[in-house]
Amino acid sequence: MIIVLKSNVTEIQIDEFSRYFTAHNVRVNKWVGDHSTVLGLLGDTGNIDIDYIQQQEIVERVQRVSKPYKKGSREFHPTDTVIDLGNGCRIGGGAFGVIAGPCSVESEEQIVQLAKDVKASGATFLRGGAFKPRTSPYAFQGLRASGIELLHQARQVSGLPIVTEIMSAAHLVMFEDVDVIQVGARNMQNFELLKELGKIDKPILLKRGLSSTIEEWLMSAEYIMAGGNEKVILCERGIRTFETMTRNTLDLAAIPLLKELTHLPVVVDPSHATGKSSLVPPLCMAAMAAGADGLIVEVHNDPPHAMSDGAQSLTPSQFADVMKQLRTIAPVFGKEL
Ligand code: PEP
Ligand code: MN
Repeated sequence: MIIVLKSNVTEIQIDEFSRYFTAHNVRVNKWVGDHSTVLGLLGDTGNIDIDYIQQQEIVERVQRVSKPYKKGSREFHPTDTVIDLGNGCRIGGGAFGVIAGPCSVESEEQIVQLAKDVKASGATFLRGGAFKPRTSPYAFQGLRASGIELLHQARQVSGLPIVTEIMSAAHLVMFEDVDVIQVGARNMQNFELLKELGKIDKPILLKRGLSSTIEEWLMSAEYIMAGGNEKVILCERGIRTFETMTRNTLDLAAIPLLKELTHLPVVVDPSHATGKSSLVPPLCMAAMAAGADGLIVEVHNDPPHAMSDGAQSLTPSQFADVMKQLRTIAPVFGKEL
């Protein structure tokens, strides 16, 4: 962290100010220039409140030089993190993972059939919401614990690892036999939940918050990693903008930017990003072209009658076409699928 002081500060003020940092185990280097004095802080500045520093009367401006996220940063871990669940189910490091399935688990027949269908088209993971974060309390809330049981059955039949959303740390016992736990956009900053997920040894699919910056998102990943769980997958699922024609705005630039900033795998959810099934196939291609490590796509056997998100769901045959197109372009972008 670098602090530029105002031109009229006295040595006494600087000494007093410096004591604040030494009390936080941070060393202070001082450069006295012709027009201003600059302090360079050395050591772990993670506990220094930058807003508090900025407010001090003797401070002109403050700048962080190192990133506030450490474990997630590429500087500290240059090689790509690969999430490997065995049997070829991998995301990252060139492996393009495709997570497909319905928004909500609705019945045994539905989830088992969809698991077989998406597996036949080449999906590598099965998704299905059991606990659903719905805007309205009167909307379908998911089958909850029995939804997870049905996902187990679908895994048994298809061999696909299962991905499903958690909404409360109190539900963790029900997720013991889930392969990848999803944290939805609405819980990206549920820090107590993130801390609990940091204590377990399971991949976490961390969706970007509805209006979260990339740095806030990486800091949420840091919560999980700081607790000891380094298996985090980031999921870009669109952000809120002024646009109303699409459900959200897919931030494609976030993908190559994240690949620079972090070693964590990045997957894209074109379903929630757009809300429209016709827009999903082209954005699947765009995500791969932009460097994503995978996709999470909603697929439903009967979209008009889906209990949630039918309008953005592909049919199994539309999904099969997307997989074919992705396989055609994968070699161009150095991806295995
Ligand atoms: C979901 O994946 O079903 C979901 C609710 O997504 P998001 O948290 O991105 O809205
Ligand atoms: Mn959905």
